[in-house]
Amino acid sequence: MQKLIRPQPMDYGTVSGLCTALRSRYRFLQAVPLGQSVQGRTIWSLTLGDGEENVLIAATFHAQEWMTAFVCLRLCERLCEAVKQHRLLVDWNVYRALSDRRIMFVPLVNPDGVEIALQGDKVWQANARGVDINHNFNAGWYKLQQLEQKKGICGPSARQWGGPFPESEPETAVMTALCRRVRFRQAIALHSQGEEIYWQYGEKTPSESLLMARAMASVSGYTVASPTGLASHGGFKDWFIEEFGRPGFTIELGRGENPLPLSDFEEIYRKVEEMLLISAFM
Ligand SMILES: [Zn+2]
Repeated sequence: MQKLIRPQPMDYGTVSGLCTALRSRYRFLQAVPLGQSVQGRTIWSLTLGDGEENVLIAATFHAQEWMTAFVCLRLCERLCEAVKQHRLLVDWNVYRALSDRRIMFVPLVNPDGVEIALQGDKVWQANARGVDINHNFNAGWYKLQQLEQKKGICGPSARQWGGPFPESEPETAVMTALCRRVRFRQAIALHSQGEEIYWQYGEKTPSESLLMARAMASVSGYTVASPTGLASHGGFKDWFIEEFGRPGFTIELGRGENPLPLSDFEEIYRKVEEMLLISAFM
């Protein structure tokens, strides 16, 4: 069957259209709105499987990283097609693996930011109010604010401003409300770039997280990494680990300068598919 998810700019209209198209092709897929962005765009989720154990794969916290929406949606499509055909994906019997799993995809956490980025702002990562969503989560937020201020970031900015207070942004609140409502056994945040896997935040990091990160690295060639500087606090995975004490990961997809070129997308996906399957089914 013709692929729906192809390399293309992942603006809000495109992603919403693709969610609808996937839902119509695969009737077992659920499409549910989670909430709205600053400018009123819907933040969509797609859910596959009806098992007891929930896994979250979320993408495009950062505007220029809309390639991550492509990877998220392509994985969803490939899983759906494998389920429909009762076919293996890589070596996984997806149909059986999904008997105890429910995988939720959130391809576009920051839809307003992507519109700004695609309309020509070459460095834009934030939301429509100039808040960097991945600096706005309530994990070491005050420490991060001090680091931002040292760098001269004290207000709305294209990147790296954590906002007036933790969880001040609707996009952040959508993600925290979701995680408080659904008990995810693990959460994966897709970013770009660097081909790295981040797995650690503070004392509540589960002991199995490093092993999981190593398993993901071994099938992808990605590097198991530790954050430094302004990436040390305030991120979604940081908050997820601190709040729930369960495994949370940031995967930095691809290599190069954001936004990564469309010509890289297929190769990036090919390299990470097995890793993402492991991240979902571990
Ligand atoms: Zn990012």
